[in-house]
Amino acid sequence: MGSAAVVPPQAGPAGRIVSYNPATGVPLGDVPDMGADEVKAAVARARAAQREWGAVPLVERCRRVSRIAETLMEGASELIELIVKEGGKTRMEALGTEVAVVADLTRYFCKHAPKLLAPEPIPLHLLKHRGSYLHHVPRGVVGVIAPWNFPFSIPIGEVVMALIAGNGVVLKPSEMTPLIALAGKDIIDRAGIPPELFQVVTGRGPTGAALVESGVDFVVFTGSVATGKRVAAACGERLIPCTMELGGKAPAIVCADADLARTAQALAWGGFCNSGQVCASVERVYAHASVHDELVERLVAITRGLRQGDASSDEVDVGAMTWDKQVDNVERLVDAAVKAGAVVQTGGKRGKGPGQFFEPTVLTGCTQDMDIMRKEIFGPAIPVMKVASEEEAIRLANDSHLGLNAYVFSKDTARARQIAEQVEAGTVMINDVLNTYGCPETPWGGVKQSGVGRTHSVIGLKELCQTRHVNYDRVAVPREIWWYPYKQRTFDWALKGMKLLFGKRPWSRD
Ligand code: NDP
Repeated sequence: MGSAAVVPPQAGPAGRIVSYNPATGVPLGDVPDMGADEVKAAVARARAAQREWGAVPLVERCRRVSRIAETLMEGASELIELIVKEGGKTRMEALGTEVAVVADLTRYFCKHAPKLLAPEPIPLHLLKHRGSYLHHVPRGVVGVIAPWNFPFSIPIGEVVMALIAGNGVVLKPSEMTPLIALAGKDIIDRAGIPPELFQVVTGRGPTGAALVESGVDFVVFTGSVATGKRVAAACGERLIPCTMELGGKAPAIVCADADLARTAQALAWGGFCNSGQVCASVERVYAHASVHDELVERLVAITRGLRQGDASSDEVDVGAMTWDKQVDNVERLVDAAVKAGAVVQTGGKRGKGPGQFFEPTVLTGCTQDMDIMRKEIFGPAIPVMKVASEEEAIRLANDSHLGLNAYVFSKDTARARQIAEQVEAGTVMINDVLNTYGCPETPWGGVKQSGVGRTHSVIGLKELCQTRHVNYDRVAVPREIWWYPYKQRTFDWALKGMKLLFGKRPWSRD
C-alpha cells in the first residue's frame, strides 16, 4: 500500500505554474500562466494558419495527420513516463487509456473521415426537379479546454479530430497537467503539422475563460458540471456552439443472474482504474439481494489484493490521485457515509507519507440519500447498495442529475438490453465497463447535466465542422408555379392538389 499525506501544489515564480509529481511531491517543471493577450495572440496565429490548412483537400489532411500516430509511437516510452509522473496513473493505464486511445483514434479517423465527411445527398420527396445535399466545412479555430484526469487522450484526441476536420486548434490544458499537453504539442509538431495551427495556452481558470472570449469558433469543454455551466453561459453570450463533456455518476446494476466472478473484476477495474478519477467510473453499485453478499465478498477480495503506490518507481495497480483536493473530496464522502451508517469493508482512509493517495475502498450498507450515492466521488471508492428487484435498481440508477455512463450485469443479454434501454445515460455497457472511450467509432457524451453534444464517432467529427446545405436544380424549368404573378386559377389548382396529397385518403380506415 502506498503512502500519503496530501502534497500542496508547489508555489512557483511569479507568473508561472509549477507542475509536480502527485506521488512524491517532487516538482517536474513550470509553465507560464498566460493572460488574455497571449491567448488572443495564439488564436490569431491558429486562425492565420487555418486558412491554408482548411483549403487542403480532406484526403491530404488525413495523410498528413496520420503521421501523428507514427511520431506518437516513436516517443511512446518517454511520453508514458511523463504521464505517470505528472498524472500519477500507472504505466499500464498511461499506455492503454492515453497513448493507445490517441494512436487508434488517429488511424481510425484518418482512414474513415473522407467517407464520414463526404457530401450527403438529401432526396427531396416532393420537389423532384430539385436536389439537395449537405457538405461539411471546417469551423475555423476550435478551443479545447481539458481536465487533468486523462491529460493526453482527452485533449489530444480532440485536437486530432479537429485538425482532420480542417480546423486550427488552441488547447487550454488543466493547470495540474500542462507538461503532458506540451508533450502532445511536440508530438504533433514533429509529425509535420504546421506549428502555428495547433497552439497550447497554459494557465488556470481565467486562461480558459479568456480562450472562450478570444473569438474561437467552437468550444470543446471537458470538466466539471459547475465550470461547464459557466463556460456554456459564456459561449451562449457569444453564440459560439460548444460541446460540453461533464461529470458522471455511473450506476452499475447487478442482476440476480450475473456472472459474479466477471462482475466483481469489472467493478473493481471500473471503480479503481486511474484511482477512480474517471468520468465514467463505477460510482455506485445496485446489487440484487440474492447475489449481494457473494458479490461484495469477491469485490473485497480483489480490492485487498491491489497494490497501490508511486507508479513511476514501483509495479502497482493503483497510482496516486492527481489533484490534492480530490483526496479531500473522497475522504469527506466516505466519512459522511460511515457516519450515516455505511460500513467500510476494506480501505476507507487516505494513505500516509508524502504522496496523494486514498486506499481502494468498498462500502456496503449505502442508501440512496447518502452524498456518496449522489455526488461525484472521482476517487477510488465503490459504494454498494442492496436492492430487492431490477425495477428498483433502474429507478435508483435514474434518480440522479447526471447521466454519462451506466453498466448492467446479467447473463441474459436480451433482458440486460431491455434494462439498458431504460437507463438514462449517454452510454450503457452490458457486462463491461469504461472502455468505449477507446472505441473512436462510438459516441461519447452524456444526458441530463452530464453534458451537451458528443465527442468521438461520426457525430463528434461532424460537430467539429459547419454543416451547410446546398439546394440546386436537377431539371431546368422556366419558372416555379408559386412565383409572381399570383393567379386565382393557380391557387385553385394548388388547393386541389394539396387536398389530394394531404387530405383524407379514400382507402384509409378512420
Ligand atoms: P474543471 O471543471 O475544474 O476544469 C476543467 C478545465 O476548465 C480545466 O482546464 C480548468 O482549468 C478550466 N477552467 C476552470 N475555470 C474555467 C473558466 N471559468 N472558464 C474556462 N475554463 C475554465 O474540471 P476538472 O479539471 O477538475 O476535471 C474533473 C471533472 O471533469 C469531473 O467532473 C469529471 O467527471 C469531468 N470529466 C468529464 C469527462 C467526460 O467526458 N464527460 C471526461 C473527464 C472528466 P484549471 O484546471 O487550470 O483550473
